Amino acid sequence: MESPRLPVTIVGAGISGVACARVLAAAGIPVELVDRGRRVGGRMASRRHEGRPADIGASYFTVSDPAFEEVVARWAEAGLARGWTDTFGVVSGSQDARTTASGPTRWGTPGGIRSLVEVLAVDLPVRGATEVQRVSVEDGLPTVDGRPARMVVLAMPDPQARRMLDEAAHPAAAAGLTAAYEAVLALTAVYPQRCWEELPDGLFVNDDPVLAWIADDGRRRCDAAPVLVAHSTDAHARPHLTDPATGGPAMLEALTRYAAPSLDPVHTAVHRWTFAKPVAGRPERYLLTDTGVAACGDSWSDKPRVEGAWLSGTALGHALVESLA
Ligand SMILES: Cc1cc2nc3c(=O)[nH]c(=O)nc-3n(C[C@H](O)[C@H](O)[C@H](O)COP(=O)(O)OP(=O)(O)OC[C@H]3O[C@@H](n4cnc5c(N)ncnc54)[C@H](O)[C@@H]3O)c2cc1C
Repeated sequence: MESPRLPVTIVGAGISGVACARVLAAAGIPVELVDRGRRVGGRMASRRHEGRPADIGASYFTVSDPAFEEVVARWAEAGLARGWTDTFGVVSGSQDARTTASGPTRWGTPGGIRSLVEVLAVDLPVRGATEVQRVSVEDGLPTVDGRPARMVVLAMPDPQARRMLDEAAHPAAAAGLTAAYEAVLALTAVYPQRCWEELPDGLFVNDDPVLAWIADDGRRRCDAAPVLVAHSTDAHARPHLTDPATGGPAMLEALTRYAAPSLDPVHTAVHRWTFAKPVAGRPERYLLTDTGVAACGDSWSDKPRVEGAWLSGTALGHALVESLA
């Protein structure tokens, strides 16, 4: 049923889709990435304020797998990524005491976390600003909005993938895309100058109804910019998903309480992530069905994060090379 002249179409140019495309392109298999965003990166997202990008999606990444370690070493050598910290603060909404927690090295990016996906995607054909509506089948071939493909890879959160899937044409894919996701609102607050003293590079907020995390974006990015980014809890995000700005005031109030800046921000913005993080991971690395549809992404990992997404896309790429060669 598959035709070697057609490209493998990968819907989703986040890190998993781009990693999958890299493996296919390296094996000489024609590939095409399609994304509804104008730029690649997905949830590894940076938004600019007065020319400076602040990271509003993934806050940082960690490294444990040797294959990913090699990629990160190349990013580090090129100055694109650097070990940020292994220690964050922890505060509880129900108690006053603050502690610190150490863990693996968290990596940050001087140019914004999106820059890593942009570098991975260099030389790959990407059709941006194209929202796919329907993944179906025609004459035995999978189709993306009516265009036939050799294979179709859905590289995005399961609920987004299911929306576009013709479930009657691709029943195994529909049955496999079951992961649930947490929602997050991200509040970016730009201050006239750095005006907080006690805040660590990052602060986990436990047991608070509104906030879950605060990052000092200037420390993370190493430019000392007076920018904080706060992430909400799922419970705070859900009622505000249709109008995210309405979730901002309570977040700013909580941010002010925990970070104690002595000035008001000059600019704030709220970004909605309806499908921010998988509620749980799973042992399988990808989904590959016999109707020509495959899936990868962070939920196809026991550690559903940036590294897990890269590993999932890479593993699917190798599986496709084997099956299509
Ligand atoms: C607020 C937040 C905080 C996070 N913090 C961390 C962290 O600290 N550390 C960490 O490791 N990870 C973190 N993550 C998770 C991390 O960002 C993801 O695990 C990783 O980026 C997932 O990559 P992906 O390729 O699987 O999916 P995505 O990056 O979501 O890529 C999917 C792509 O599909 C595209 N798409 C969707 N629907 C369509 C359509 N119909 N047509 C065309 N294109 C479509 C989207 O535009 C997107 O570009 C965080 C995420 C969020 C949102």
